Amino acid sequence: MPEPAVLRNWIAGEWVASSSSDRLDVTDPATGATIATVPLATKDEVHAAVQAAADAYPAWRATPAVDRARPLFKLQSLIRDHFEDLARTVTEENGKTLDESRGEVLRTLENVEVAAGIPSLQSGEFSSDIARGIDETSVLEPLGVFVQIGPFNFPSMVPWWFAPYALATGNTYVIKPSPQTPLSQSRLMDLIAQAGFPPGVINLVHGARDQSEALCAHPDVAGVSFVGSSPVARHVYATATGAGKRAQCQGGAKNYLVVLPDAVLDAALPNICGSTFGCAGQRCLAGSAIVTVGDAHDEFRRRLIEASQAFTVGNGLDPATDMGPVISQAARQSILDAIEQALADGAELIVDGREVEVDGHPDGYWVGPTVLDNVTPDMAVAREEIFGPVISLLHADTLPQAIEMVESSPFGNASSIYTSSGGAAREFAQAVNTGSVGVNVGVAAPMAFFPFAGRKQSFYGDIHGQGREVVRFFTDPKVVITRWPERSDGRDPWD
Ligand code: NAD
Repeated sequence: MPEPAVLRNWIAGEWVASSSSDRLDVTDPATGATIATVPLATKDEVHAAVQAAADAYPAWRATPAVDRARPLFKLQSLIRDHFEDLARTVTEENGKTLDESRGEVLRTLENVEVAAGIPSLQSGEFSSDIARGIDETSVLEPLGVFVQIGPFNFPSMVPWWFAPYALATGNTYVIKPSPQTPLSQSRLMDLIAQAGFPPGVINLVHGARDQSEALCAHPDVAGVSFVGSSPVARHVYATATGAGKRAQCQGGAKNYLVVLPDAVLDAALPNICGSTFGCAGQRCLAGSAIVTVGDAHDEFRRRLIEASQAFTVGNGLDPATDMGPVISQAARQSILDAIEQALADGAELIVDGREVEVDGHPDGYWVGPTVLDNVTPDMAVAREEIFGPVISLLHADTLPQAIEMVESSPFGNASSIYTSSGGAAREFAQAVNTGSVGVNVGVAAPMAFFPFAGRKQSFYGDIHGQGREVVRFFTDPKVVITRWPERSDGRDPWD
């Protein structure tokens, strides 16, 4: 076996080897094998990445928007050319199925496509004669160096909810991916190297907590886009805003799906299973608690058991696999602990994925689809994020009662309703306090041209990710008010 690759940082347009002796193994969660080693950058290396971005900023912000868009157009075609390779990298380091990885790379690409429309997205406003002979213009100016700190679960896509817009608006950038899944961003930097961005405009630095904190505290960093768990999101938000920086920090989730008696179960069941078990339940938009209303419970429970047991768990690279492993042995153990706690609290285990085995992969981090019934909103399993393929089934007599359960969650990332009634869907969408709402859609993921963020403990900040919305995060409006002296002879200047 060849030695696993030691990852490098991408700083000022070059791959730079790290001198750090603090290193972590990157494992393939399906096999437990080490596939790379990631050195956690030294203080000097973090500083060098920010410095490179700061040095590149004056010339990049002075580059016309149409010219800043050109490397993004080139990057689109590079991502398309390397699409399968990028998807395979996501599967190898994260474990999700190849189809799920393809979906993720497509979402990465879509954000690059939307950001390439920056000449329109960043245009300002103009009003003539706000008073006699006076005009007013606003322009959206970039702010400097921005930083992205990412989670393990969407190693390709998440940094690109932000990066293409930061670059397009004339800022410069540093990405610090999760040390559990650092390969996808490294592969993307290989493409960045060919896309034509000037050196230092975008940089990659590897690390964990200390490197994130150094980036958030760095005096030359203007703002931070964080995505990860809620306690860290809250901490990063407090640190960054306390230091006078902009911050948008997306946190964890506990997404409720409500099933009414008039739901079309033939369509709803596969959609709900895709939401809850897709990516092994490690999606911030994954359904996690399902509330059946009125008569919906018995039939739904029967069919959910059947559908859950039909899932094939295995290596994401195998086309027969419906669900891959979870990210690590520690994640697996924490999911098993949450199931034990639910049982101790009185839940009933109706599908048990704890002992699932996968032929040929004894060292993978496996948890099979698991369903708990008789869950109540006060139980930890209904309130806390589990981030694994575990459904908690709750029951409500009426829609208002179901909405109350959704609202009892401390999180507010997304919620969905399954129904044939427009009135019920409307009532639900208006009542729930979540950032995204699905109607007969279990993963209510906004497209790149719509804003994306949660509410309550799922989001610390105000300006969301993606599209026109995130352009506001990366720019500051400047207003210019102009009065020119009138010509004393009153003649048109071209006469
Ligand atoms: P995590 O919070 O453990 O880590 C996220 C990032 O923060 C990593 O890069 C990590 O190195 C860094 N980090 C860890 N501790 C830190 C600290 N004290 N200070 C600064 N940085 C620190 O999250 P994870 O386990 O990698 O990802 C899973 C979590 O992300 C889940 O909670 C999931 O819901 C959430 N998530 C949310 C969204 C969303 O849009 N709301 C999207 C994807 C994932």
